[in-house]
Amino acid sequence: MSGPVDDQDGLSRGMRALGIEVREGRAAEVGGMGIRRVLPTKGRRTVGPWCFVDLMSPDDVANPDPMEVGPHPHIGLSTVTWLFEGEALHTDSLGSEQVIRPGELNLMTAGHGIAHAELEVRPGSSAARGEFVKGAQMWLAQTESTRHGSSSFAHHKDLPRAEIAGGEVQVLAGSLAGAESPVETDWPLVGAELRQSGPVELPVDPQFEHAVVPIDRRVKVDEVIVEPGSLALIPPGFESVRIEVDGASGRSMLLGGVPFPIRIQMWWNFVARTRDELTQAWRDWEQHNDDRFAPVPSSLDRIAAPRPLWMREA
Ligand code: MN
Repeated sequence: MSGPVDDQDGLSRGMRALGIEVREGRAAEVGGMGIRRVLPTKGRRTVGPWCFVDLMSPDDVANPDPMEVGPHPHIGLSTVTWLFEGEALHTDSLGSEQVIRPGELNLMTAGHGIAHAELEVRPGSSAARGEFVKGAQMWLAQTESTRHGSSSFAHHKDLPRAEIAGGEVQVLAGSLAGAESPVETDWPLVGAELRQSGPVELPVDPQFEHAVVPIDRRVKVDEVIVEPGSLALIPPGFESVRIEVDGASGRSMLLGGVPFPIRIQMWWNFVARTRDELTQAWRDWEQHNDDRFAPVPSSLDRIAAPRPLWMREA
């Protein structure tokens, strides 16, 4: 049965709205800082290759404890660090030492294994302005072709921006609104910060699934309201996404990619495919296997891995 074109349009518009789902994040603590974990979430491990999104924002806004995350390991993922405010120092087992500031990207790829530490730094000027670390710590699952390989660290400044009606985007990875990031990835994806002062209509790749993560203001994604601390899941098939902000201005993250074809296994700081791989990574960290996880130059204490649930006595 086929109906008039107008009805088809109305139907597809309605289905678009129905296709978007909202998931609430949950509170957790990392390095003495209260965070909001919005991915993974109930029934969803990945959005494209994005498999982990923590939003860092101090609870005690007037006098927060500094973020201090001591040396800890990763396998099978890339960490994507993006700050909205404040400064942090990254050190890792490759010998990297890098201060990161808002608008800059740290991309650390673990492959077979890496370890790193993150420490908030508070130059007098930023503390005087009342600026403390706020940002997003995100992970990308690595593909089969790279996850057993070598580790690397890259710091990117001057990521491209694009002006759009109602706002501006800065592209961390992939391309959006005509701006293309130089960051190399092993899977088709997009990651961008959106700053808007009015409604925007973002053109997106219909082969991608996406998440919209509001940071400081409530937004409306098509017809769906999304609060900060939650995310909107948008299935493939959309050629554009309309986002309205509640208030004069607001900031959100747009994350997406081709749906990841493999169901990953995540435990603690590891991304793998099987429990055996996770157990081996846990052992290698606990037994100080320096071939896999070399020492990290850091003043902070090494973080001990909890024993995996499946390794505990009944
Ligand atoms: Mn980490």
